[in-house]
Amino acid sequence: MWRATVLTLFPEMFPGPLDASVLGRGRAEGHWALDTVNIRDFSDNKYGSVDDTPAGGGAGLVMRADILSHAIDAVPKDNRPVLCLSPRGAPFTQARAHELAKGGGLVAICGRFEGVDERIFAARDIEEVSIGDFVLAGGEIAAMALIEACVRLIPGVLGSASSVREESFEGGLLEYPQYTRPREFEGRAIPAVLLSGDHQRIADWRREEAEKITRTRRPDLWERFLADGPIRRDKNKEPKR
Ligand code: SAH
Repeated sequence: MWRATVLTLFPEMFPGPLDASVLGRGRAEGHWALDTVNIRDFSDNKYGSVDDTPAGGGAGLVMRADILSHAIDAVPKDNRPVLCLSPRGAPFTQARAHELAKGGGLVAICGRFEGVDERIFAARDIEEVSIGDFVLAGGEIAAMALIEACVRLIPGVLGSASSVREESFEGGLLEYPQYTRPREFEGRAIPAVLLSGDHQRIADWRREEAEKITRTRRPDLWERFLADGPIRRDKNKEPKR
């Protein structure tokens, strides 16, 4: 079973939001599992401290590599990658979520304070991962976001597999706009093509909208989409530049 093990100073934060809705149901039904390790349990002193002042001076506290290494070593990895949430990590992507969802799970280390002693990354096989260019107070919410992105891709967790296939990032594009009843909302109608029943026209319209939204909102994604070539693109249609 796909398993996430989270190393944290705040195990009481878990499962938290991961137990709501489809993820919670998926866990109850045995599609995935979650456990936490309290890093404080590996403290070597009676105060339970896990951090110390930064070498070289400066503000804050740094999590100690020795204590962290004991916590990491106590976790059965079972071939799962060990990730450390960090704003300096490689940006987490939908592609990485797919890779992780296909494997046996992951081990996530949540930093606190100023982060962790740099030597842990050389001493253990750890991948630093960021969920965005902003700074959180700790890795816990970042770990939850990452786990949620993976778990919803595990077969059986979401109702419909096709709703995953057509989503933002899946084909290299952001998703087209979605509408539902009522047909008119504050004088704004649902685009007529979506009510036409013409599946080809609807698909073409959605495709064009997805390209337009990606081009205007995320030029970085758009450039990559164009560069990726026709394998990921619809072979019959060249995108409008
Ligand atoms: N001083 C560090 C930030 C520490 S924030 C720096 O400037 O890089 C404290 C902890 O929050 C980090 O160790 C990390 O685990 C987590 N965190 C903060 N922002 C994050 C982000 N964007 N992605 C993933 N984890 C993050």
